[in-house]
Amino acid sequence: MMKPIIELNNVTFRYPRQTVNALNEVSFSIMKGSWTAIVGHNGSGKSTIARLLNGLQFPLKGELLIDSLVSNETTVWDIRKKIGMVFQHPDNQFVGTTVEDDVAFGLENNGVPREEMIARVQEALHQVRMTDFLRQEPHHLSGGQKQRVAIASVLALQPDVIILDEATSMLDPIGREEVIQTIQQVQKNSGMTVISITHDLEEATQADTIIMMNKGEVYKIGTPREVLTNEVELKKLGLDVPFSLKLQKAFAEKGWQLDKPALTREELVDALW
Ligand code: ADP
Repeated sequence: MMKPIIELNNVTFRYPRQTVNALNEVSFSIMKGSWTAIVGHNGSGKSTIARLLNGLQFPLKGELLIDSLVSNETTVWDIRKKIGMVFQHPDNQFVGTTVEDDVAFGLENNGVPREEMIARVQEALHQVRMTDFLRQEPHHLSGGQKQRVAIASVLALQPDVIILDEATSMLDPIGREEVIQTIQQVQKNSGMTVISITHDLEEATQADTIIMMNKGEVYKIGTPREVLTNEVELKKLGLDVPFSLKLQKAFAEKGWQLDKPALTREELVDALW
């Protein structure tokens, strides 16, 4: 957990023909094996960070290091070997006619030998608990299942970091829960570094670290409890304290002990019923 895998040092970025910086002197480190959620209001710079991390854009000023390599001096292909992305729209991510083909696609492209490919596809589908859907057409799956397959496709490539860019925002609550639990499982089992970019603060409560963005700048970095519980501060940013943390506070006021940083949805249901 102690070594940074990603470091931004005073990164400034501006889109062409814009007068305002999309990112202004942004600095933070992301530790190996951690789960970091990047949150903030619309337009705060979250997606721009994802584009920089994915090698789609490069800092105008400042420095972005991915596994100690300077992004400007690294090819997009080297960056993509280290960083896997899962996007918002599950349907746009499929290239195979079956779940198995889809997860195998990136490996085939990378020339992974057949035996190893089969093993990696199985392992990846096992991790997201989609082994039973091997021969199904991706388009027939539910939203949550589709995103789990998209996650498996990334896992099969064995990147160091998986970035989920609003990956749960198109899903219903069940799909969202499936995906969040899958991320938790993957992070625990494989020690993979997870970065979730989300406007859903409830989801962010599951992360180890929150990076709160505001108007292209880092507003605050800390644990969910440190960043997501101050109602007055969040209101100023157009945000609200997530329900699970509100409930946790209510519990604490009653003297009920909860020793975890945030409640999972299951625990919430348990607590409420
Ligand atoms: P978020 O993901 O938090 O909603 P973005 O990173 O998309 O924020 O946006 C940060 C700023 O950059 C905003 O002011 C937005 O208008 C601007 N921006 C984002 N994408 C583009 C683009 N393709 N061209 C020009 N400006 C952009």
